[in-house]
Amino acid sequence: MTMEFSVEPTPTPTSPERLAEILAAPGFGRVFSDHMLTATWTHPDGWHDAQVRPYGPLSLDPATHIFHYGQAIFEGFKAYRQPDGGIATFRPEANGARFNRSAARLSLPELPVDDFVAASDALIRQDAAWVPSAGEASLYLRPFMVATEVGLGVHPAQEVTFLVIASPAGSYFASGSSQVSIWVSEDYTRAAPGGTGAAKCGGNYAASLVAQQEGIDNGCEQVLFLDAVERRWIEELGGMNLWAVRDDGTLITPELTGSILEGVTRDAMVLIAKELGHEVEERRIDIDDVRKGVDSGQISEVFACGTAAVIASVGTLKWRGGEVTLPADTPVASALRTALVDLQHGRRPDPYGWMHRVC
Ligand SMILES: *Cc1c(COP(=O)(O)O)cnc(C)c1O
Repeated sequence: MTMEFSVEPTPTPTSPERLAEILAAPGFGRVFSDHMLTATWTHPDGWHDAQVRPYGPLSLDPATHIFHYGQAIFEGFKAYRQPDGGIATFRPEANGARFNRSAARLSLPELPVDDFVAASDALIRQDAAWVPSAGEASLYLRPFMVATEVGLGVHPAQEVTFLVIASPAGSYFASGSSQVSIWVSEDYTRAAPGGTGAAKCGGNYAASLVAQQEGIDNGCEQVLFLDAVERRWIEELGGMNLWAVRDDGTLITPELTGSILEGVTRDAMVLIAKELGHEVEERRIDIDDVRKGVDSGQISEVFACGTAAVIASVGTLKWRGGEVTLPADTPVASALRTALVDLQHGRRPDPYGWMHRVC
């Protein structure tokens, strides 16, 4: 049975003038739409009380599980204004499937993918005016699930809340294409074999922040994590998957090991790269080979990919005691980015059936 949603419209919708102002320069994750979706799961009754209601604070008991044991997962995908004025999301089923894999790892209940998609659709329809139509802008959807059982006993929560919030998003980077600098973290790792690296959970992000700060202290914007066992194989950034381009046009990305987050953008890149005539290799990548390859010019581009930033080209790779610089010219990353963004905005055919029409 598909989830039924009740709708309680906000008594104080954002004025069209204010909304136009917000959508003209949305930034990322700063302003939220007028409504949110909430649904409750309890054992043994399952999911109930799904509602689209005014966006606003939650009132939670201080002993709520999430505050203490971090049992929480999230997702992120975008809704795009289409040339005919309608709205479509990019591969929400893929995010729904990943949400369930994350839920299983964090001992959270399953949410059928159909309900995950229907919930996001219901919020998008209610706040359709919040989907920007300019340039690369979109409405970022943030579905998440948190343990809301009250008490300090350690066990999988018997009460859980699912929410979806939405935030208009402009270009992630101010100039749209400026290169990022990356700090190679040699002291801290993000995920270990058997751990939660492949789950999209807040705990992974919490654990990455100290490395992120170390990167910032060393003049870098992002951090590259290596594998936890040998500290030798490239894994990914704190929130994006990594790619290298060889001078013969071959694209290389770390294979999924169980400690790497399986990005939907990464998956799309594999197919789009092949469509654009590139060979794609998914395999283990030695950080030393990357350092040497960039130095010798054998690696011509490095870029990261993820829903929020789409593709971020890497300009510098820095570590304790050294750094290498990449060319400012990034034809491969630029072509891949354009192909993906055009597909998402309906300006290019969608041979993969990736776009999901909402309205
Ligand atoms: C979300 C995320 C990504 C990117 O996934 P997309 O589905 O492409 O947005 C990559 N790495 C980590 C750790 C993530 O949390």
